[in-house]
Amino acid sequence: MSNMKKYLNPRVAAIPPSGIRKFFDLVVQTQGVISLGVGEPDFVTPWHIREACFYSLEKGYTMYTSNLGMPELRQEIAAYMLRTYGLEYDPETEILVTVGVSEAVDLAIRSLVSVGDEVLIPEPSYVSYLPVSDLAYAKSVSLTTTADNEFRLTREELAARVTSQSKLLVLPYPNNPTGGIMRREDLADLVDVIIDNDLIVVSDEIYSELTYAGEHVSIASLPGMRDRTVVLNGFSKAFAMTGWRIGYACGHADIIATMNKIHQYTMLCAPIMGQVAAMEALRHGKPAMRKMVEDYNYRRRVMLQGLADIGLACFEPRGAFYVFPSIQVTGMNSEEFAEKLLQEEKVAVVPGNAFGPSGEGFIRCCYAASLDNIEEALQRMGRFVERHRSQKPSSSTAAACRN
Ligand code: PLP
Repeated sequence: MSNMKKYLNPRVAAIPPSGIRKFFDLVVQTQGVISLGVGEPDFVTPWHIREACFYSLEKGYTMYTSNLGMPELRQEIAAYMLRTYGLEYDPETEILVTVGVSEAVDLAIRSLVSVGDEVLIPEPSYVSYLPVSDLAYAKSVSLTTTADNEFRLTREELAARVTSQSKLLVLPYPNNPTGGIMRREDLADLVDVIIDNDLIVVSDEIYSELTYAGEHVSIASLPGMRDRTVVLNGFSKAFAMTGWRIGYACGHADIIATMNKIHQYTMLCAPIMGQVAAMEALRHGKPAMRKMVEDYNYRRRVMLQGLADIGLACFEPRGAFYVFPSIQVTGMNSEEFAEKLLQEEKVAVVPGNAFGPSGEGFIRCCYAASLDNIEEALQRMGRFVERHRSQKPSSSTAAACRN
């Protein structure tokens, strides 16, 4: 059949491919590249977690699990949520184990919105919320966040954008791509706008363990917010378990039951090997995770110092494993910068506009890479910026670099 396109769902056809993936097709074609691109730990999953999976296979754990996930894993998740955030969830009805947080994002949005509802999404943000909302026939509305406010969502911005059609607010903190966090007081500032406008919050907290200035606060733990919030979290980032594909959602039983309805027909259950590994991670994984976070924190400092030396302004990100420097001094747009940096110096970063138009003028560098690679990449970037500098660093740029 020659015209296959006419058979394709136009709603899907209209969605652009992920700006991250598009760029990485270029990267794989280039030899000797140092990648600060993909948002993935460079650590292998800790040994004891892999070992738990081996033993479970030996014992014959190769079957489907309950749709909601293994009861023992849901109990471990409930215990983790209680000891870490003071949040109580019933493992029987209020926790769903998913195929990564990716699936949880899809299920939460599809379970909560219908045609014409508005989904409010801070920008720049992780790339999936917008297309998933689109596929759910909702209308996504971007909420602008800016570098001078460390990419926090403000009450003013939320209040200005919310309408009678608004149904969902996505809160993706600690943030990919900026590394920005929301402190308790920043979250508290949003609460009455959320409640007054009867919004439900989908809080993607996949980077919650990767914070470098105090503990992460979940908006679900603020007064009046528990039942209005679906907390999404998972194992990919904190435990270096991207390939195991395990995430989870915690929330009101009615929302979880609705998410599970889609999940049971589309996924059936998350893979049992990953669930066994996740259980081990929650039971005994804290020391290894702490060590990885310490390493990330050291690399974060090296990265920030290196960017300051190069003269690229960057606020100090306090979460996740990304820095999001401005490339304004080069006068290039972010795609041009990323493409030329790859061609001329073989360093891969992600153009900021892959995360929405307000990411223009920035690049995302992931520092979940070896120190040697970070240092070499910084040297190459330094040469590149020196060659292409169109503006002398202003005193405000220099000050921002020191923050
Ligand atoms: N949410 C955010 C903010 C992410 O950055 C990512 C992956 O980069 C995901 C969700 C997807 O995670 P998972 O591997 O659990 O599907």
